[in-house]
Amino acid sequence: MAPYCVLVTRLQQVLSKGVRRYHVAPVLCQRAKVAMSHFEPNEYINYEMLEKNINIVHKRLDRPLTLSEKIVYGHLDDPVKQDIERGKTYLRLRPDRVAMQDATAQMAMLQFISSGLPRVAVPSTIHCDHLIEAQLGAEKDLRRAKDINQEVYNFLATAGAKYGVGFWKPGSGIIHQIILENYAYPGVLLIGTDSHTPNGGGLGGICIGVGGADAVDVMAGIPWELKCPKVIGIKLTGELSGWSSPKDVILKVAGILTVKGGTGAIIEYHGPGVDSISCTGMATICNMGAEIGATTSLFPYNHRMKKYLSKTGRAEIAALADEFQAHLVPDAGCEYDQLVEINLSELKPHINGPFTPDLAHSVADVGTVAEKEGWPVDIRVGLIGSCTNSSYEDMGRAAAVAKQALAHGLKCKSQFTVTPGSEQIRATIERDGYAGILRDVGGVVLANACGPCIGQWDRKDTKKGEKNTIVTSYNRNFTGRNDANPETHAFVTSPEIVTALAIAGTLKFNPETDSLTGADGKKFKLEAPDADELPTLEFDPGQDTYQHPPKDRSGQHVDVSPTSQRLQLLEPFDKWDGKDLEDMLILIKVKGKCTTDHISAAGPWLKFRGHLDNISNNLLIGAINIENGKANSVRNALNQEFGPVPDTARYYKKNGIKWVVVGDENYGEGSSREHAALEPRHLGGRAIITKSFARIHETNLKKQGLLPLTFADPADYNKIHPVDKLSIVGLADFAPGKPLKCIIKHPNGSQETIMLNHTFNETQIEWFQAGSALNRMKEMQQH
Ligand code: SF4
Repeated sequence: MAPYCVLVTRLQQVLSKGVRRYHVAPVLCQRAKVAMSHFEPNEYINYEMLEKNINIVHKRLDRPLTLSEKIVYGHLDDPVKQDIERGKTYLRLRPDRVAMQDATAQMAMLQFISSGLPRVAVPSTIHCDHLIEAQLGAEKDLRRAKDINQEVYNFLATAGAKYGVGFWKPGSGIIHQIILENYAYPGVLLIGTDSHTPNGGGLGGICIGVGGADAVDVMAGIPWELKCPKVIGIKLTGELSGWSSPKDVILKVAGILTVKGGTGAIIEYHGPGVDSISCTGMATICNMGAEIGATTSLFPYNHRMKKYLSKTGRAEIAALADEFQAHLVPDAGCEYDQLVEINLSELKPHINGPFTPDLAHSVADVGTVAEKEGWPVDIRVGLIGSCTNSSYEDMGRAAAVAKQALAHGLKCKSQFTVTPGSEQIRATIERDGYAGILRDVGGVVLANACGPCIGQWDRKDTKKGEKNTIVTSYNRNFTGRNDANPETHAFVTSPEIVTALAIAGTLKFNPETDSLTGADGKKFKLEAPDADELPTLEFDPGQDTYQHPPKDRSGQHVDVSPTSQRLQLLEPFDKWDGKDLEDMLILIKVKGKCTTDHISAAGPWLKFRGHLDNISNNLLIGAINIENGKANSVRNALNQEFGPVPDTARYYKKNGIKWVVVGDENYGEGSSREHAALEPRHLGGRAIITKSFARIHETNLKKQGLLPLTFADPADYNKIHPVDKLSIVGLADFAPGKPLKCIIKHPNGSQETIMLNHTFNETQIEWFQAGSALNRMKEMQQH
């Protein structure tokens, strides 16, 4: 930002604090505004609002705030009245923007379209990265993906154009890398329909992975609910050097906190060690915070972020952030719910796995551990890239290792693949020679996409069921994640260690101490890699892969074929008819655990994510029926035959009969996928009655116009039999905190009444009455 503009901002701040409000000429005001991104020149960063809200909360809480609290509370819908208690209350927030990847964007956009709203309420983007399968290399794989996924891409492109959403075409890169390069900034509150959205914490933003339903709310202008997060502080001292890298910080943290240690908390890094980490390195650390269950992770604004913002063409944002720096770092004396300290000077290169990202080993030890455990020590494939580790610096450090091997006449013993994080990274590493070096050492450069990281990998070298080892610079290594082979032992580590191990071909190699034998038979040691954090020249943007929504969107048509098997426009759900729900059948009484995976399975069903009717054929197929102890086998109360759950639901729907599900404890835990709430509503369900709900699923059900209800007395679960009929009465007086009555009618004619609790507030009751949250939004717009 030009000093002139900063001056105007300062002037406005000073004036606004005075008794008298001075008028600043509109032309000056306009020049003082800083756009959130180059792609949205009319959407401005609102640090003034952040500051105002933080000041209100500071006064109310009367204590120093962590940085996480400043940014989260700075985005409160009502900072004056909002109950704030870490780990307890639910906050209503106003995020600045939304990002969606192509797999999750389909249903999110379909829901948004069904709301009837003319355009999104906040800046939003779609990123085509998840549907490109790695097979032969970048060009051919991209061409093939465009062909196979044509209708999905067309839909997302046209829907984006019509509703004002930026569209990043296939080949543009991985969502989180593009967000870091173009959209994240210090103090932003961004939600993204992908678990690794926290990557943006590397630029000092609160970036949170959510389900599609949350994204739809924010795009529709509905405040977004989040349980007030706890804050775990990680104090970094010392500095990174040698073979140790940012990845080792998060691999170490994962080992300490385990895969559940961050649940319900924001991980906030701070301390003098922070300055030794590049901005993209900080993003790596935040990205993989998803592996310890954290709500998100972030770093305080510093000169490394400023450097990155400037190099990515956003010096004016850095200048503005300098102005507001006090709000972009934690207060002195703030308190964390838990504190961990890591001395970076003592941190050794790590490699975690197999099968879980929190099984931490030092690179020095992993070979010995593998031999003891019977894990294959020979490495079949080394894979670098993914949203976690695909920066210019990452590629540079990997190339620095590869160059040394080439100088001694060596190539990789293992197969080696390289996934650039974005078109900009790809073009820049091509220009600066890194891609050539990585190819020369044996690497295959894949498309700028998720590829093998999300299992989009047509792997040929190993048969399913064959025990083997791969090392990746990715973030997740759960069983079968990369190649669907449960016998693949996947380890995660830094790109430079992946490269060194792929050259050596074995887990038993420690580049810090061991030697390799060159083509001339002489032994040599790899030097620790040294590479620039950012290119000396400007980034090469590569091909233009962005589609801006047109100015005039009136004639824009959204492409969805009525015969498509992958996409289906949604019809708004019907309104409540003002009557009680009487004599409903029980579709299934679930026994034990019922996660969103049991309600709406993933795997092969993923391709139907944009087609509600087709994906509804997986409704509750994983849930166990208490009546026969079987999955996907329920009694049809109309003909007494047992059949699949979705077929039975469709039968009831066709015959105009409403139904309910009866569930056990913590119904709907797991991922936040909205299909688990859309499907029962689509197939005629009206209520889900359980001992307890997972909070996100409970809210998702309310959004779709269903009634999530809990037994006032959990023992009443035993009073209901799968062959009973249930009536929910008292809906005319439906009110917050007021229990509802449920009449159970047994087949022998007897009946009993139990009480059901609910957590609906007034707004949510309006959602139920309107048929869904989106119907309600539309009604409000029309009035
Ligand atoms: S690269 Fe991997 S972790 Fe990152 S967004 Fe894609 S699938 Fe998710």
